[in-house]
Amino acid sequence: CHRPGGEYVEEPSEADIAASNAAALERDLRVALTTGRGLSVVYQPIVLLEDRSLWGFEALVRWTHPTRGPMSPAEFVPVAERTGVIHELGRWVLDTACRQVALWQQWVPEDQRLSLSVNLSARDLDQPGITDVVLQTMTAAGLDAENLVIEVTESALVDPELAIPALGRLSAAGIRIAIDDFGTGYSSLQYLTQMPVDILKLDRSFVSRLNGTPQYAAIAEAVVRLSQTLRFSTVAEGVETEAQAAELAALGYRKGQGYLFSKPLTADEIGGFLQVEGRE
Ligand code: C2E
Ligand code: CA
Ligand code: CA
Ligand code: CA
Repeated sequence: CHRPGGEYVEEPSEADIAASNAAALERDLRVALTTGRGLSVVYQPIVLLEDRSLWGFEALVRWTHPTRGPMSPAEFVPVAERTGVIHELGRWVLDTACRQVALWQQWVPEDQRLSLSVNLSARDLDQPGITDVVLQTMTAAGLDAENLVIEVTESALVDPELAIPALGRLSAAGIRIAIDDFGTGYSSLQYLTQMPVDILKLDRSFVSRLNGTPQYAAIAEAVVRLSQTLRFSTVAEGVETEAQAAELAALGYRKGQGYLFSKPLTADEIGGFLQVEGRE
């Protein structure tokens, strides 16, 4: 472009713009993590399909950017992964959610165990000290290993030499491991027999195409049969309609998560709900 003074400045390429956006987002995210401003965790209930009773929650991060407003994690989590700030972000989410659920666990009857599912990025499993970080954060928050589920996607299993020992240590400590978005990845099914998996989460893309599409029902059924044989439990994600819930239950799914049951809620909203339940 032509600038006053006669010199020509090269137009920034799309890659340059993306890189400077990422750098700005990384900087803003670091500020948010230090000040605690703009970041929060929301909790989406996971229910038993049978009677819709509460089994647990998935913790999901939320960020209101100082100038851009609320941003989707689908937008900033990948940036956080590329820049490495995901490590601090992951710790912050884990710490916040563990403290919160340790508190809620005291409000519910002793025989009701609230499960807290936290997402761990594939990049976190590469960190040498990751299992100690998870265990120390959980213990410091006062949460028991029996309450915690770590969700990893199949992409975390691409490097099984790192992932299998890390997940093995978490599992040995009593933490359950869930494979997130199951069916969308490209990992070999063979890893499922070598890893301490407890839960398969059927990806929303299969659930949303269930109604009347025999191919998707066949996949959903194959996943539940595989889980039964390998003794995993299952969670169906993104359940939006009664028809989907009924079909999933008929196929053998026991747990579901989705807008039909509840959208992700703030800690205050969940707290209000649990206190009302507790008084009943
Ligand atoms: P995910 O782990 O698969 O989380 C489920 C996503 O589906 C959430 O989107 C949730 O709000 C959305 N969802 C739940 N029920 C329904 C439904 O019935 N219909 C539809 N259409 N969507 C539903 P969200 O919160 O925007 O998060 C998007 C992704 O960002 C997550 O997908 C996860 O991969 C990542 N993410 C979110 N929080 C964290 C975090 O704390 N750490 C890491 N590493 N990743 C996170
Ligand atoms: Ca997840
Ligand atoms: Ca998922
Ligand atoms: Ca996903």
